[in-house]
Amino acid sequence: MISVAQFDDLDRLEVLTVVTGQLVNETPLRIGAGREPPLGSAVDIAPITIRFADGRSSPYIPGSSLKGVLRSLAEAMVRGQGKEVHSPWDFEKIDAEAKDGNYCVICGIFGSTRLASHVRIYDAYPETEAITFVKTSVGISREFRGAAPNILFTEQQVVPQVRWTFRMDVVNIRVFPEPQDDRGELLRRLIDMLVDGMVQVGARRTLGYGRLRLERGVYRVYEVEKGKFVKKAEGGVG
Ligand SMILES: [Zn+2]
Repeated sequence: MISVAQFDDLDRLEVLTVVTGQLVNETPLRIGAGREPPLGSAVDIAPITIRFADGRSSPYIPGSSLKGVLRSLAEAMVRGQGKEVHSPWDFEKIDAEAKDGNYCVICGIFGSTRLASHVRIYDAYPETEAITFVKTSVGISREFRGAAPNILFTEQQVVPQVRWTFRMDVVNIRVFPEPQDDRGELLRRLIDMLVDGMVQVGARRTLGYGRLRLERGVYRVYEVEKGKFVKKAEGGVG
């Protein structure tokens, strides 16, 4: 008998796990909005910002950025187990998985062009003021393969120790209280890495920037019973 990973199950909701908490950036942080500074900006590279209802605007951490780094980490962990991992752009492999209905563990968590994601990560907004500072760096000249001291550029970064909202929803994968399959195990390890401050997002990661720690993490597990959401378990994360 061939075991098939039937992860195409999002037409029915069986179990929903919600993980909430606060992310703290332990080092400076900037999630880019591309290389174009906003009009009127005094710096060359500014963080991506969002405008709130009261008119304030502030840097934030897009959920898609968080999801992207968690997916890359998951891929690295699976490769570390000696298993093959295809790239998110390997459409031939992705189509083959969809045709057989047999998805790899990475697509089974994060989705592909042919399978919806089982994980939703929300944008993270500052809970304390996201104060920024401007860092001046020396440009790298591609032409001369090295530092080009005449090319200075300024980059706006968020100061360390800002607290950000965190929420992640996991659908139909059991992660807590105990993982029930490979995907649950992998998600559990990713959440542990967030708790241990081992996940980085944004620019300048080689300098150690953008390192996040999950604090006050809590999970809640809901199941559908007689058409209603019932909380089945809850506890601390980490
Ligand atoms: Zn896959």
